[in-house]
Amino acid sequence: MDSLLRICEIFHSIQGESGRAGRLCAFVRLAGCNLNCAWCDTAYAVNPAAGREISLPMIVESLRPFRAGLAEITGGEPLCQAATPELAARLIAEGYEVLVETNGSLDITAIPYPAARIMDLKTPSSGMCGRNLLKNLAYLRRGDEVKFVVADREDYDWARAMIRDADYPVSLVATLFSPVAGRLEPAVLARWMLDDKLDARLNLQLHRILWPDRDRGA
Ligand code: SF4
Repeated sequence: MDSLLRICEIFHSIQGESGRAGRLCAFVRLAGCNLNCAWCDTAYAVNPAAGREISLPMIVESLRPFRAGLAEITGGEPLCQAATPELAARLIAEGYEVLVETNGSLDITAIPYPAARIMDLKTPSSGMCGRNLLKNLAYLRRGDEVKFVVADREDYDWARAMIRDADYPVSLVATLFSPVAGRLEPAVLARWMLDDKLDARLNLQLHRILWPDRDRGA
């Protein structure tokens, strides 16, 4: 019997974040998350009941009309569901370049190569800082990305210290700094990064700039 995943939405859009920002991308958003971030911007996907079960072959079929080269599995938290690595493997076998966005609180090693892991390190303002599974840093590989969502100066200083002190291959893994919408002006964050000559990328949510009134992917 085919594995099932609880899916919140499947859609085609512009990749709004990460080092692949600007590319056309097929998105699979899974329902359910194990965290409760203070500034969650996808609250509609946090409850598993927000999704419906779809088999992996059906998910792959539903992406086909988009004719996308890039596919992202996101959430919610994709690693809350056991079949997520299998979906990533199927999409890789179909020829997609695959991204998996994860909140960094669960073991990322099951995500098959060469899928890229876009992994959050939760900052203090999220209220979830204590849930970061720091051993994941040792598993990062070329093509993966680490993302800090920054709401204020305390978050920024915390993230800067993590880059300095954490044992992860900063030269192989892009580091993203993303301002929380409505909490921190992007230009302020940019100024801090410039002042510190920080080896990181300013990560703006392109989809929110393009479609500010849209509160879902599809
Ligand atoms: S990990 Fe992501 S989906 Fe889950 S509560 Fe935090 S921001 Fe929302």
